[in-house]
Amino acid sequence: MARYTGPVCRLCRRYGDKLYLKGDRCAGPKCAFERRPNPPGQQKRFGMRRRRVSDRALQLREKQRARFIYGIMEGQFRRYYKQAVRRAGVTGETLVRLLEQRMDNVVFRLGFADSRSQARQIVRHGHIMLNGRTTDIPSCAMKVGDEIAWSPKGQRTELFKIVQEAMQGKEVPDWLGVDAATMSGRVITQPDVAQAGAKFDPAVIVEYYSR
Ligand code: SF4
Repeated sequence: MARYTGPVCRLCRRYGDKLYLKGDRCAGPKCAFERRPNPPGQQKRFGMRRRRVSDRALQLREKQRARFIYGIMEGQFRRYYKQAVRRAGVTGETLVRLLEQRMDNVVFRLGFADSRSQARQIVRHGHIMLNGRTTDIPSCAMKVGDEIAWSPKGQRTELFKIVQEAMQGKEVPDWLGVDAATMSGRVITQPDVAQAGAKFDPAVIVEYYSR
């Protein structure tokens, strides 16, 4: 499945917020948004009039922000929206749950990776097992009761040792359980939308697609 491969710090600057796409670097002084919070590209010249931003543009911006946070291309993101519409409940909240249930996101939330893009790479390289079987599909939807652990191949990597040493004291959302001793995790319940800490408004994304 395709993914965005361009410069990610530009996205934070373009969408006016820290999207935390680069792991540890995001919390440090090298964060590009901390140093230059203005949008990338040509800067506003003296005397230029401020452009009015339409509602549609604001909705698009919110949708793009969510899409880049989870590292998903437009087609797949739209499919998540359609799936959310078909399900009972509040569409925006269901959309956030579907995004949170992605395997790469779960790997990230468990603290096995610094960022979703790193989690995606770990999964793609066959370092993670889902219910005892190696699964290399980052978009795989995880269900309540599913268990993930590092594969034997994953446990032989340098990254595994680094992650294992850093696991103590890491916090995971209540809907997940982690066992630092065995480096495994489990989905205990449905994702908690509040704990997702979404840096976007799902209701606005629903408005964008429902036009
Ligand atoms: Fe965004 Fe992280 Fe880059 Fe800062 S370091 S601009 S938060 S991706």
